[in-house]
Amino acid sequence: MTEYILIYPHDSRAELFLFSRDDPEGRRIVRPRYADLVCARCGKFDEMKALLRGIDADIVITTTRDMIGAIDGQYLVSRRLRDILDKHAASLVQYVDIPASPTYCVALPAYLIYPKEGDSAYRIIGQPCRVCGRRMEVIWGSGVPKIPSGVTIGAFANESRIGMAVVWFVSRELADVLRLTEPKLSGLFFDPKRIPAA
Ligand SMILES: [Zn+2]
Repeated sequence: MTEYILIYPHDSRAELFLFSRDDPEGRRIVRPRYADLVCARCGKFDEMKALLRGIDADIVITTTRDMIGAIDGQYLVSRRLRDILDKHAASLVQYVDIPASPTYCVALPAYLIYPKEGDSAYRIIGQPCRVCGRRMEVIWGSGVPKIPSGVTIGAFANESRIGMAVVWFVSRELADVLRLTEPKLSGLFFDPKRIPAA
């Protein structure tokens, strides 16, 4: 029976946004290269399409951790962590380069689980946007999230007020590889509870 472990970026203080920046008045605006993707009603946009367009050249990674959480919901990994994932989860994670920091990339597992209406694992807040259908917020509920057996790595596509809020999960076997890597990988928080395959 497969068991899964959630992984979160550990206490990121990187203050890193990938898709938005401050305008001269100090207001947070979506970067121009993604502006046409923004929903006029709720302000959210398709992060998957945005990632395909790439990351702006002025985004610089200033920490040395192996995993970093961007405030707008994505995980970034170091070259070293990517190499480990390539070895143990080849082609199961998609990567997007950070042009100004070539030793980092945005990483998103290809296997995504979207929250389901009526599933107690999720608490869905607010009505869907009338234009794009996105929820205001989807956070964990009281139930155990369902993951089928046999998956090595994937992610829940939860939702924050900003947009897609990714939560990675890995098989216990892959979690053990990541935990036991020497020198120790930094920036990874392994959720203590194990999720049995549904
Ligand atoms: Zn919308």
